[in-house]
Amino acid sequence: MNYHQYYPVDVVNGPGTRCTLFVSGCVHQCRGCYNQSTLNPSSGHQFDQALADKIIADLTDPRIKRRGLSLSGGDPLHPANVTEILALVQRVRAEAPGKDIWLWTGYTRAELSPLQLQVVDQLDVLIDGKFEQTLKDVNLKWRGSSNQVVHYLR
Ligand code: SF4
Repeated sequence: MNYHQYYPVDVVNGPGTRCTLFVSGCVHQCRGCYNQSTLNPSSGHQFDQALADKIIADLTDPRIKRRGLSLSGGDPLHPANVTEILALVQRVRAEAPGKDIWLWTGYTRAELSPLQLQVVDQLDVLIDGKFEQTLKDVNLKWRGSSNQVVHYLR
């Protein structure tokens, strides 16, 4: 898996103060995509054990209290990403108890494979669906277009 950006302190992508990871790779080709530079799964930097360790350390750092982890991109559920994302969310559950996990994907929940659904099982919130330019609404919270759904899972 590759990623484009990791923000250890983020107050934009989800509620409260968070850690946010923008991964590389997306198949959805939405018109008006807000993050086109991330679409190629080979772009960006390689995600490695050191960054996974840093995310856990940041989430559990008592000096800056984070509410949780946000996973965006790109698409964290892209086939090139889903195995490492599953390992990461399982680590967060085991090693950062009490932190919430939000994930944005261009797939709808109904389209997800059994492996992708294993990731969803670990989430607090899933925001699903492609960005549809004709349904864009800047007043929506946590999503760009009205076809997308915020699923509160826990
Ligand atoms: S799902 Fe998101 S990252 Fe992928 S093309 Fe659509 S807007 Fe861009």
